Amino acid sequence: MQLLAVSKTFPAAAVREAFDAGARAFGENYVQEGLAKVEALVDLRGRIEWHLIGPLQSNKTRPVAEQFDWVHSVDRLKIAERLAEQRPHSLPPLNICLQVNISGEASKSGLAPADVAALAHQVAALPRLRLRGLMAVPEPGPGALAQHQAMAALFETLKAEGLAVDTLSLGMSADLEDAILAGSTMVRVGSAIFGARG
Ligand SMILES: *Cc1c(COP(=O)(O)O)cnc(C)c1O
Repeated sequence: MQLLAVSKTFPAAAVREAFDAGARAFGENYVQEGLAKVEALVDLRGRIEWHLIGPLQSNKTRPVAEQFDWVHSVDRLKIAERLAEQRPHSLPPLNICLQVNISGEASKSGLAPADVAALAHQVAALPRLRLRGLMAVPEPGPGALAQHQAMAALFETLKAEGLAVDTLSLGMSADLEDAILAGSTMVRVGSAIFGARG
């Protein structure tokens, strides 16, 4: 089980404090805010991992390809293609998770479950990227565990199709238990680490 410390809205100083306490992987939702922290903590380069977990628009892909280690929120081929093209050759491949709209809520980003396998194969074939797995934000409530389990089933389908995926990015402060029960490999925890966001 990997722990992604979600540092959105908290200052670089809070990230440094968590780093000093042993956290190594940090999740940011907003590109500009994330880039500012990457820059503020440039002395940690090579020892810290930056994950983009929020939506990514195509006009923001270049700095993300250049500065982040992971993107969890890819849900269209065009974004993946731009990241592949813009990832510097001097860096290791950018790690990618496909975001799935597992609750089917109209307001949520992510691919429909039925479209996941096709995009996974396309992304796996792109240079400079490494497809690691799937990410989702299930809807809280009585149906949450079933959504976590549906994500785990999709993840198994990708493996059965021969894709070398190893990451199921599932679970936040409020639904960690369901996510872990279902088979999450990476929980994204913000408020339970940094405190309530203002
Ligand atoms: C904010 C956020 C988290 C962390 O949420 P907490 O409830 O603070 O643990 C995890 N994943 C995503 C996509 C988020 O936007």
